[in-house]
Amino acid sequence: MTTIFKKIINKEIPATIVYEDDDVIAFKDINPAAPTHLLIIPKAEIPTFNDIEEEHQMLLGRLLLVAKNIAAEQNLSKNGYRLVINCNEDGGQTVYHLHMHIIGGRKLSWPPG
Ligand code: AMP
Repeated sequence: MTTIFKKIINKEIPATIVYEDDDVIAFKDINPAAPTHLLIIPKAEIPTFNDIEEEHQMLLGRLLLVAKNIAAEQNLSKNGYRLVINCNEDGGQTVYHLHMHIIGGRKLSWPPG
């Protein structure tokens, strides 16, 4: 099934893209939960965190490294930020294309609701 994120990857719908390479793309969340709220996603169609396999190890490392670099570019590094991957219904996942949230720009509460 085609997700909204696949349409963003294919440039079929608009998004504010902050980073893109051959393997990953990052863009602004349409419904931000904080002053900075970005989504970083692999271009490969992996529905949930449960679906990651050995073959995805390099890709997942790349996601984390790109997230760190984006956080720095967005001036989040010093004050801090949160990386989140929601998985399935109890985790609050709504789009079934693996994605990591980068959330920052305010003091975040813990634990999540
Ligand atoms: P999750 O609940 O972890 O699956 O997160 C999905 C996120 O995608 C939510 O924070 C939505 O606001 C965001 N989202 C949904 N549609 C779009 C879109 N077209 N462009 C950007 N972000 C979106």
